[in-house]
Amino acid sequence: MDLFLSTPIEFLKGVGPQRADLLKKELNIHTFSDLLFHYPFRHIDRSMFHTIDQITDHEGFVQIKGRITGILESGVGRNKRLIAKFQDHTGMIDLVWFKGARWIRNSLKVNEEVQVYGRPKAFKGRWNIPHPEISPVEKGGTGLQPVYSSTEKLTNSGLHSKGIEKLIISLLAQFKTQPFIERFPDDFMKEYGLVTQKEALMMVHQPSSLRDAQVASYRLKFDELFYLQLELIVRKKISSKKSKGYVFEEVGDHFNEFYKNHIPFELTSAQKRVLKEVRKDLTKGHHMNRLIQGDVGSGKTLVALLSMLLATGNGFQAALMAPTEILAIQHFESLTEMLAPLDLNVQLLTGSTKKKNRTVLHEELEDGTVDILIGTHALLEDVVKFKNLGIVVIDEQHRFGVAQRARMWRKNTSPPHVLIMTATPIPRTLAMTFYGDLDVSIIDELPPGRKPITTMHKYDASRLRLFGFLKEEIAKGRQIYIVYPLIQESEKLDFNNLMDGYEAITRAFPAPNYHVSIVHGKMKPEDKEFEMNRFAKGETHIMVATTVIEVGVNVPNASVMVIESAERFGLSQLHQLRGRVGRGAEKSYCILMTGDELSKEAIKRMQTMVRTNDGFEIAEVDLQLRGPGDLMGTQQSGILDLKIANLAKDGNIVVRAREAALSLLKDNKIDTTPYDNVRERLQQVLKSRPNWGKIA
Ligand code: ADP
Ligand code: MG
Repeated sequence: MDLFLSTPIEFLKGVGPQRADLLKKELNIHTFSDLLFHYPFRHIDRSMFHTIDQITDHEGFVQIKGRITGILESGVGRNKRLIAKFQDHTGMIDLVWFKGARWIRNSLKVNEEVQVYGRPKAFKGRWNIPHPEISPVEKGGTGLQPVYSSTEKLTNSGLHSKGIEKLIISLLAQFKTQPFIERFPDDFMKEYGLVTQKEALMMVHQPSSLRDAQVASYRLKFDELFYLQLELIVRKKISSKKSKGYVFEEVGDHFNEFYKNHIPFELTSAQKRVLKEVRKDLTKGHHMNRLIQGDVGSGKTLVALLSMLLATGNGFQAALMAPTEILAIQHFESLTEMLAPLDLNVQLLTGSTKKKNRTVLHEELEDGTVDILIGTHALLEDVVKFKNLGIVVIDEQHRFGVAQRARMWRKNTSPPHVLIMTATPIPRTLAMTFYGDLDVSIIDELPPGRKPITTMHKYDASRLRLFGFLKEEIAKGRQIYIVYPLIQESEKLDFNNLMDGYEAITRAFPAPNYHVSIVHGKMKPEDKEFEMNRFAKGETHIMVATTVIEVGVNVPNASVMVIESAERFGLSQLHQLRGRVGRGAEKSYCILMTGDELSKEAIKRMQTMVRTNDGFEIAEVDLQLRGPGDLMGTQQSGILDLKIANLAKDGNIVVRAREAALSLLKDNKIDTTPYDNVRERLQQVLKSRPNWGKIA
């Protein structure tokens, strides 16, 4: 790196030894370069004002101008708050502080014109602005002000956002006259609409307009995403060259016999397409690492089954791994039934497989007697060895950790082909990044004859009417799920809620006319299974459960899904749960029960569920609400090290950056002279990051 940028931060004017120390410890800023790349996370448009009457339909931050007309304190103890009545020419709103009341009270001036910046919240139907930022009205309304992240310690030594801004302004004054290498050639920047990196760095800190800020951040985001895509594509090329895979030469008798004579229904065209993609992988001699995304009920199991028959027909063994015991059992039962006409040995292995049976099973796996093994995590144990495992199918992938998946690779001298099936649809742009190393197939079609599920959002107050509705459905011969949340942090409370709910339901639906099942995580596996089976056979009318039933179970006669405290579930979980109904010929319902006080996000989740059944649309909203790291449930977003790009919001830039990366790698354009600097940067990136893509 060049000399100027690598200058230690203590050499900047305004940074003494103490501040330098803090910058290093708190923000990991050691050099001029680190400070230059400490981007503002937002710009406040100081020239833009809202009026109070616009607040009700505005999302996010607002800036309003007006005066405080009165100050009061209300509540006692923990409920104590300071309220300032604030007025502009369109109306009145409360500014509220829950902390620091005395200090703030002294700083507030009544009847003086000020500007207020903050994020309005609704509380019991009334709008207020909690903990706003108040400043004197700025003369001549300067344009955009950058906002930097800071910490309490930094703030105490004057390095709040404004203080950091000052340092950066002084750094920019020097940076302006320094030479700075532009890595992209002119043509490239023109094609992708990019300003130079130096311009972008100058502008992102001190934009003269909103447009400037956008242009600058576009370039900087593009940079991050471009190198990320380049890295992923290159790594994938390297790994697919290296890892040889078994070749399944022929379609084989098993597949042909089943497909011609025993398949229970015609495949949808999406199922056919995905199966072709799989088949192609298996003949190429490379190791297959493919992700199949398909909404709940899209028929992934059948694709898995047919893929496994490709393996057995070529003399290999196959394994199917499910995230829960209930699901593994269900797969085992439905597959043994479907495969009955074929001469295949299908076995089940779970945590509750008896030791005696286990020993036999282990032997039969090793001598090749078993053709297809279905099971849970138990399958991963080192004692489980195969004669020649050709393919592993992993169902409902999101329940398995990355490390667990990697263990499957060690089952053979040569790794088996891997097919991962997920019902948590991942938006395309995100899949490109997280699964840069996997090939992705999409089943984007449901089997014919499915009736869309009607989803309703109801408040707890309408519970009596709900019970009435449930009785009508039961009278028609339908069955019902009622699901309660159970999360670790509040396990005890949740468990009590579940039990209270169960009691209330048995009272409202008394024997002998009604039969109610219950299943939860604290029960013994055999009791769970017993209850699940009773429900599956239609012997009970209502299944009260926690989310243990979330994935995979298939009871076509169940047509109503009631989700209690629905506001506590994430969108993808709600969608999964809803997917348990709508599997039969009957009209199905999903009823979301919530309390009265809902956050804005919870309302959005409920509205989204009511509006659409489309898993991909739901995943997009989920991504917007939660951000990608959370969605994946892994630390991967941290490893990606994105400072300014946001995978949730910058999908269009991801697409452009990927196009650019692909076009550079095509015909080895990247090896030509104009791209010397890009290549150099890529080498740095490849060296500095662990190869995490490989284990995904
Ligand atoms: P998921 O993708 O959620 O795992 P499943 O594989 O469990 O979905 O399939 C859901 C239901 O659809 C099952 O009852 C299955 O038998 C049925 N099914 C699968 N494929 C088809 C098809 N091509 N035509 C009709 N029904 C199908
Ligand atoms: Mg499934």
